[in-house]
Amino acid sequence: YFFSFDGIDGVGKTTQIERLADSFREHGREVLVVRDPGSTEIGLRLREILLDGELPMHRRTEAMLFMASRCEMVETILRPALDAGKTVISDRFLLANVVYQSTNDAAGVPDVTPELLWQMGRLSCGGICPDLTLLLDLPVDQAFARLGGETDRMESRGPEYLDRVRSAFLEQLPHTGGRGAVVSAEGTVDEVAARVADVVFSDC
Ligand code: ATP
Ligand code: C5P
Ligand code: MG
Repeated sequence: YFFSFDGIDGVGKTTQIERLADSFREHGREVLVVRDPGSTEIGLRLREILLDGELPMHRRTEAMLFMASRCEMVETILRPALDAGKTVISDRFLLANVVYQSTNDAAGVPDVTPELLWQMGRLSCGGICPDLTLLLDLPVDQAFARLGGETDRMESRGPEYLDRVRSAFLEQLPHTGGRGAVVSAEGTVDEVAARVADVVFSDC
């Protein structure tokens, strides 16, 4: 079974994934947690390039490097784990790639459309899509506060941009190829974990 978590920075994805992985393990399930981009040698190097604020890059180049990182992760780690019967949880997946790379700094027609990115994405995933995508949703100011004002290259574009990213996540969630669930990320870690558990344990 393959789960992915997504949403804007600081909503609590990594925190909730750790909690869910622990609770699966307590139930005796073998769990693999991966991160997109990342998790492989190539993925980590691409992640460094992608998150390097000093390196200018065309939007399509950026989109394809995220795709390449995912392809390597799917084929070397994720697919083998699923084939071995493990539960896999991914910290972001193709949905993030579609959302971020189709959201420009300024409102208007994007350089790369979501439709094109979903198409490219099919190649990067080799037929695999998350059975369930949990979209953690939180107003931008609250997510930002959780990060303590810390931003990186991708997220240093201001609240108006982030708000469009948040909307794009909600808009694109139905197109992942699997089930999608919006989970409110408001409240304490325990409160959010309880909502996540409700969705997950009714699904599998
Ligand atoms: P990123 O996209 O930047 O990786 P994330 O979605 O993975 O962010 P986390 O790293 O899990 O978010 O959480 C961001 C910060 O907010 C962390 O310091 C974490 O401890 C804290 N945090 C997580 N969940 C909550 C919560 N429900 N309430 C308050 N703080 C939280
Ligand atoms: O959540 P994670 O730490 O992996 O995200 C790294 C950064 O890359 C985040 O700031 C996120 O906004 C950005 N990102 C992106 N496009 C993607 C995936 C992540 O811009 N496809
Ligand atoms: Mg995280």
